[in-house]
Order: sequence, then C-alpha cells, then structure tokens
Amino acid sequence: MSSGSPSMQLELRSAHVPGEGNERRPLAALCEDEPHVHGELAWTIGERRVPCMGFWGPDDVCLGQWWDELTGAVAALSDRQPYTLDSCEQGDPAFLFERTDASLHLSIVAGIGGGAPHPEWQNAEFAWDDLGAALRRFKHDLRQLLELKGPPTLPAEWKKRFSERE
Ligand SMILES: [Zn+2]
Repeated sequence: MSSGSPSMQLELRSAHVPGEGNERRPLAALCEDEPHVHGELAWTIGERRVPCMGFWGPDDVCLGQWWDELTGAVAALSDRQPYTLDSCEQGDPAFLFERTDASLHLSIVAGIGGGAPHPEWQNAEFAWDDLGAALRRFKHDLRQLLELKGPPTLPAEWKKRFSERE
C-alpha cells in the first residue's frame, strides 16, 4: 500500500446482455449481433463510490467499453498523458484522469453528450499503481464469468479482448 492515498477498487458484481428497455438477458445470449455485456462495476475510492458509470443505473455499465477505455487510460497515463473517458452518450459526463508521478487524480467533467461536471468529484486522488491492478482484476473476473456463463463461441470483439497480452 502506498501511504497517503485512499485505496481504490474496481469490483465486478454482475453481468448480463442488455435487451429491450430494462430487460437483462443471460450471458449465454451473447452473440455476434448482440456483443454488449453490461453489468455492475463498483468503483470505489476510499469510502466513496464513483457515480455516473451506468447509463440506466449502476448495473448498466457497458463493460466492453470500460475494458477498452481503461486499457487506453493506463497506456496514456503510463506516458504521463491525461486521459478522458467519455461514452459520448446523451447526458453522460466524462471521467478525466491526470497523473502526477505516483498519484492519479480523477475528476468527473462535462461530457460531449451534455453531462455536467460533478462538484463532489474533482481531483479525487488515488495511487497510480492501483489502476493497473484493479483493471487486471476486472479483466480476469469478467473473462472468467464469460468463459463460465457465456456461449461456447464468443463474439469476435471479446475474443480479441481476451487475446490481449497482459
Ligand atoms: Zn454497451
């Protein structure tokens, strides 16, 4: 544990294939035409849960998008470039990551889709090392879940994600 920063965790709590409206279909329904996996990805920094991640609610986080975006964030931040994670969905804010050596700062800022900045989430600090560790755990857990409960043949986009080098 690095001293000073609150602990950061990313916990996969559920996953489903989104259907019409609020319908949640089992992971076995995943196919090339329905490649989205949504679910609850609980992100906490210290005692606080990061809000605004799911479009229809906390268990509607687009897990493939977060997989790709957080992978992009780690790559950019490794080069000390800031990274903005923006779903561009109507009403969604964006998540801005900025790195200072061993620390990261997260701010919820205005999104392209019109979401507003979050006044209570500006420059929330956590350890840089925690992001990579949390992302690896999320990927491991999601992969295990899809291999266990998904269809025998996964859509190409998921095969591609699972073939990434660690
Ligand atoms: Zn989605």
